[in-house]
Amino acid sequence: MSSTPERPADDLHVDTVIVSAGRPPREPGAPVNPPVYLTSTYVADGPVTYARGGNPTWDAFEAVLGRLEGGTALVHASGMGAISAALSLVPGGGTVVAPDTTYNGTVDVLQAFEKAGGTVRRRHATDTAGFISDLEGADLVWLESPTNPLMDVIDLPTVLAAAREHGVVSVVDNTLPTPLGCRPLELGADVVVHSATKYISGHSDVLLGVTVVADDERGGGIGERLALHRTLHGAIAGPMEVYLGLRGLRTLALRLERAGSNAAQLAARLEGHPAVERVRYPGAGAMLSIDVAGGAEAADRVCAATRVWVHSTSLGGVESQLERRRRLPAEPESVPPNLIRLSVGIEHLEDLWSDLDQALNAAL
Ligand code: PLP
Repeated sequence: MSSTPERPADDLHVDTVIVSAGRPPREPGAPVNPPVYLTSTYVADGPVTYARGGNPTWDAFEAVLGRLEGGTALVHASGMGAISAALSLVPGGGTVVAPDTTYNGTVDVLQAFEKAGGTVRRRHATDTAGFISDLEGADLVWLESPTNPLMDVIDLPTVLAAAREHGVVSVVDNTLPTPLGCRPLELGADVVVHSATKYISGHSDVLLGVTVVADDERGGGIGERLALHRTLHGAIAGPMEVYLGLRGLRTLALRLERAGSNAAQLAARLEGHPAVERVRYPGAGAMLSIDVAGGAEAADRVCAATRVWVHSTSLGGVESQLERRRRLPAEPESVPPNLIRLSVGIEHLEDLWSDLDQALNAAL
């Protein structure tokens, strides 16, 4: 059996690509889904010798993500695995430009990079001119839009074009928008990273990460370096996890349609709520944050009072989740203590609203 997943014709709509890419070649009797290859090694003299370097189950998942982002994808053991691989592109003692508030794992890993002798230039997400002036002499620019959890939107086309002009490697964490909301490689990014734990897998049952590089020369060896990092550092994904990730990915378009519509309607209703000081909704996608009146204690009471919304630290699952982010010691101080991040799921809108409304009212 060939280990190269079938690539459907390029004129297909993205919803169709999600469903049809990465399947075994259509031969009589062939399985419709890629098998889960549970093996640590392979018979000698084939294209892959050992399972730390490759697995046909990865190939299927990577084929879909590559098609969706418009490049070549690699699956990693987690989003942090993908982030660490991308940051390995920076030379020791090098310089990174990054938003001052971003996903806190990225904040932590950049702080570790500074402790090891690197330099990080931080800018507010909306300070486009600041990002551009910081690119001079930098090695890599790290972008995430909207930012997690402040939901600030970065001017990606402008910053990515400037990075290209300065010869600075650009990386975009595309976890929140997903490739259905944003395709950073088309905007000029060199590398896209995902926590595929979130929307891509979509069911809060696996940890996975993805890096994607442009297929053309712009990638300039970056893909090979990322693959080598994955192999040598050994943070590889298990085939069962990747299979589950692929199974979840097949419904991404449907899930996002429902969750995005729920989020837009909740954002509008929350604007008028007496217990909400500020709604941070980027205008699309299924994530929003709210600043709760009454401070951190009131926000904690809201999180404790929901019955449908799950109080948990992740996002992008079919179930709606909420969390006061500053309860986590790792969260940057730029995140207000009374901010609750809402990851809107696919439940019925009215159940989500009445549950959130009663929890907010209880905290007033
Ligand atoms: N990037 C973003 C935007 C995230 O929200 C997260 C996790 O919350 C990660 C990366 C890290 O992903 P993982 O938890 O899969 O390591």
